[in-house]
Amino acid sequence: MFALMEAARLEALHLAQDPATGLKVVIAIHSTRLGPALGGCRYLPYPDSTSAIRDAIRLAQGMSYKAALAGLALGGGKAVIIRPPHVGDRGALFEAFGRFVESLDGLYITAVDSGTSSLDMDCIARHTRFVTSTTDEGDPSPYTARGVLLGIRATARARLGGDGLAGLRIAIQGLGHVGFALAERLAAGGAELLVSDLDYGRVQQAVERLGAWPVACEALLSVPCDILVPCGLGGVLSGESVAGLRCAAVAGAANNQLATADVADLLQARGILYAPDYVINAGGLIFVALHHRGESLAAINAHLGRIGERLDDIYEQAAVERRSPARVADEQAERLLYG
Ligand code: NAD
Repeated sequence: MFALMEAARLEALHLAQDPATGLKVVIAIHSTRLGPALGGCRYLPYPDSTSAIRDAIRLAQGMSYKAALAGLALGGGKAVIIRPPHVGDRGALFEAFGRFVESLDGLYITAVDSGTSSLDMDCIARHTRFVTSTTDEGDPSPYTARGVLLGIRATARARLGGDGLAGLRIAIQGLGHVGFALAERLAAGGAELLVSDLDYGRVQQAVERLGAWPVACEALLSVPCDILVPCGLGGVLSGESVAGLRCAAVAGAANNQLATADVADLLQARGILYAPDYVINAGGLIFVALHHRGESLAAINAHLGRIGERLDDIYEQAAVERRSPARVADEQAERLLYG
């Protein structure tokens, strides 16, 4: 376990269980150097506790990089609750988790993530104030979508020579909370949309309301377009999928788009500009973090507005050094985190 922690430069790993509610949880605190570790709480089944710990460590590290490059005074952490096969009282389980979060005394602040909802955050909030994304605080997805839109414009500036949306051919994979909100903004700007989702009802809505073109899920990644926008699950960019891409750039919201770090170099070798996922999708984190701190909407929007400039800067350095923007972003984040 210590080898895993050392490899990820993880500060601390906390485990807790509560037999009364069935809670089994891992909290990985990657870094508190820039501030308390903020990161979502996953509630998913795992084959064993080692996979849950590995997932928590990898995700916590990603949160540190995201917060550092978003210019937030925050570290990175993540909680993974191993979902039991049968849950008696879900509310009681999240309340037990809330007591555990409280015991860490603000080192870790939790939030919604895969498998959890604002209602779960409300249960946690009965026992700790170190929780965000409660029903009172609201959904961060529109803010993520707004940041991704700014990132798409920056990507178009760097790769296509202009940041107008009119006439841009954009392929969106996944029309969920972020993908649909983004599609609405892109359509309003005059972009031509090609869309796919596992849920065909969402595709139909985009066709009817936004004039999008439907594309089969298995064809979306290789459809000819200017910018490919992954907004579904992670890991979509692999050696195999990159070989089939027919786009000038990839710029989307999904976390952990690169199946492995070296896929960034394959994209670079093919001349496909890649927007590092944790830079372009930081809008939701910016909203959650600043809202929790009591900042105004104007301050949140101003902070979020800097996502485009951050990408401009990364793309410029990547072009000068002839390497992937993902490598440049990692290096910039590590400089902020480790000096
Ligand atoms: P969501 O669950 O609301 O939507 C995801 C959508 O993608 C669903 O409609 C799903 O059917 C679809 N999908 C999944 N795999 C697909 C595939 N192979 N082909 C086509 N469609 C597919 O999730 P979301 O909140 O919109 O988040 C989307 C992505 O952005 C996730 O990777 C998430 O981790 C990341 N992200 C979200 C936020 C946020 O604020 N919600 C912030 C940062 C990053």
